[in-house]
Amino acid sequence: MANLAQLSVLCGPTSLIRASAVNRAFAVVRRTAGLHQFLQQVYAVEMPPRYSHNIATPRHMRGTQTRYRAYSTNVVTSKLQIELVPCLVDNYAYLLQDVNAKVTAVVDPSAAGPVIDALNAKGLSLHFILNTHHHWDHTGGNAELKRKYNAKVVGPRADEERIPGIDISLRGGQTWKLGEHMMQVLETPGHTRGHVTFYFPDSGAVFTGDTLFSLGCGRLFEGTAEQMWNSLSKISQLPDETLIYCGHEYTLSNAKFAMSLEPTNETLSSHYEKIAQLRRKGLPTIPTTLGEEKKFNPFLRPSSLELRKALNLSRSASDVETFAAVRSAKDRPCVCRQRKNMDD
Ligand SMILES: [Zn+2]
Repeated sequence: MANLAQLSVLCGPTSLIRASAVNRAFAVVRRTAGLHQFLQQVYAVEMPPRYSHNIATPRHMRGTQTRYRAYSTNVVTSKLQIELVPCLVDNYAYLLQDVNAKVTAVVDPSAAGPVIDALNAKGLSLHFILNTHHHWDHTGGNAELKRKYNAKVVGPRADEERIPGIDISLRGGQTWKLGEHMMQVLETPGHTRGHVTFYFPDSGAVFTGDTLFSLGCGRLFEGTAEQMWNSLSKISQLPDETLIYCGHEYTLSNAKFAMSLEPTNETLSSHYEKIAQLRRKGLPTIPTTLGEEKKFNPFLRPSSLELRKALNLSRSASDVETFAAVRSAKDRPCVCRQRKNMDD
């Protein structure tokens, strides 16, 4: 692949080749249509992502090399900037910023104050409020934020009458754009009947609200175990490296419950040490990744024989039955655990 090395020299910002030499080289390239197309593809792959923030046409190609502007459409756009905003006792809201398009959104603002502080710290305004579900600890900041910034509220169609100030209602399977970033809406009922999950494929980020937590899942307030299992299965089909941004910091208490079901799961026990250390320092355990959750989240592990044994389930029990048993065990009051989390 000599061409790759050659091209990264031509296109790199630290190129030692003079502009005139570069122009001559590209004049040769332009005469060879097939090679040109090949180089276009290679160029898009080779561009380091950090350049995508501000380079439409590489400096040495500006002016005379106008035909190469086409490259900018091939370059992957910058990732969405995501900032975690702690709210109330254990809620997380998330600021999403598309730097290129200068569009900002917040996911699940339980309160306006911390979100306003976060926006002020970055000198930002707010354009959209995204709600995964109607619970007050995910929508409590809607009214004030909408009034202050004239922001639009985006939420689930199935629950539009319960989302304060909703302007744009979306169904599962629909897509929507935050600036340049496509967002897919996944219908994930179970915790509430209208719960949705927001997935940004180009950033590999998913906002799961109270459907999937790190090491846990939401309580079944309005749905059945089967609905929740289907919702979790839908999220599980995303790529393993997907970053999961959930609605609450419940990870440590969830981990204790998980360890009671799989005491010999070494990945779980070493992860427990990591999250315990983070929490001792007052740091968040979020985001987690889907791949990691599959290794230790009991609600995603119906195939674990150790977990089935702990719940007195036979090998023939279905995945939904196993999920339902894990959920029931978590819902039972336990003297060894303080049950103070409302939603998990
Ligand atoms: Zn909730």
